[in-house]
Amino acid sequence: MDTFGRQATDMRLSLTDKCNLRCTYCMPAEGMDWLARSDLMTADEIVRLVNIGVDDLQVRELRLTGGEPLVRMDLEDILSRVRAAQPTLPISLTTNAVGLDRRAAGLKAAGLTRLNVSLDSLHSETFARLTRRPFLERVLRGVDAAAEAGLGPIKINAVLLRGINDHEATDLVEWAVSKGYELRFIEQMPLDADHIWKRDNMITAQAIRDRIEERFVLTPDPRERNGAPADRWEVRRIGDPLLGPPAGVIGIIASVTEPFCADCRRTRITADGKIRSCLFSHDEVPLLNLLRTGASDAEIAQRWRDAMWMKPKAHGMDHTGLGADDYVQPDRSMSAIGG
Ligand code: SAM
Repeated sequence: MDTFGRQATDMRLSLTDKCNLRCTYCMPAEGMDWLARSDLMTADEIVRLVNIGVDDLQVRELRLTGGEPLVRMDLEDILSRVRAAQPTLPISLTTNAVGLDRRAAGLKAAGLTRLNVSLDSLHSETFARLTRRPFLERVLRGVDAAAEAGLGPIKINAVLLRGINDHEATDLVEWAVSKGYELRFIEQMPLDADHIWKRDNMITAQAIRDRIEERFVLTPDPRERNGAPADRWEVRRIGDPLLGPPAGVIGIIASVTEPFCADCRRTRITADGKIRSCLFSHDEVPLLNLLRTGASDAEIAQRWRDAMWMKPKAHGMDHTGLGADDYVQPDRSMSAIGG
């Protein structure tokens, strides 16, 4: 609970800061100064924190992320141990799907509920330009394998960059709808290590909707949003009856231009065991020292509670509308926080 009455029931836990892609809007070409191995939480520490979150702090949903969570070879072990302790907890994974084709069935067997795959382009050249790696085919194989393994409903995350992949918005919608996946466009956020983000160059939620409406009809999804970051829209092809079932559903995560801080339900833990009450925080509260010096579950839960109590009202990009210039980017970039 924080001072504004929000309750964090959705836990985002980063398993690593490392990644096998180098998306231009996230990481520099040469990679980062990775965390020392000894600073990464171990599987034991991760399982313990999840249990404290669920048993003592009313966490109701777990998302594993990174960096790229699949680069952790003990992912299946972590999952099966969390699943054994928390049989009904929804557990999802955010992944770039590289190598997922070989692991999807094992992840399902270990207790994963569902997953989100990041995919910004369906053209191999654009994909390689954006991610600096030629892995589109591997990603597509990974998504197919996840669907086959029963890890649906699958959500696809896409970030649109002006002049690079923004012309693909409607093709991505067509592809996702035809496959039965829920596509979610994420506004590019000022969280990249290279500081390439520019407010007047980003593709806004409104621009995304306008572009999609060139080929589809969008109507608000009548389901409750329930603290979800994505604003959902039903998608119909132009000419299809408006009263009939939609061809699919898309979401738009407009953290910059239509922020949803007032209903934020997230608590984040970095791969080195630090609590961030907000994705855009400048403050982090360490837990690793407590975990490694014999603190009780009650002491760890109390530090976590105290950290969440201080959650800021909003991330600060919106207080003067679109023109806020006093936002200061946090030191850690997206991959190091855990997106
Ligand atoms: N490696 C995994 C993946 O690719 O999904 C998980 C981590 S990645 C940091 C999580 C999500 O953050 C991805 O969907 C990625 O596109 C998104 N992301 C990274 N940097 C971003 C930025 N500056 N603005 C918006 N989204 C970003």
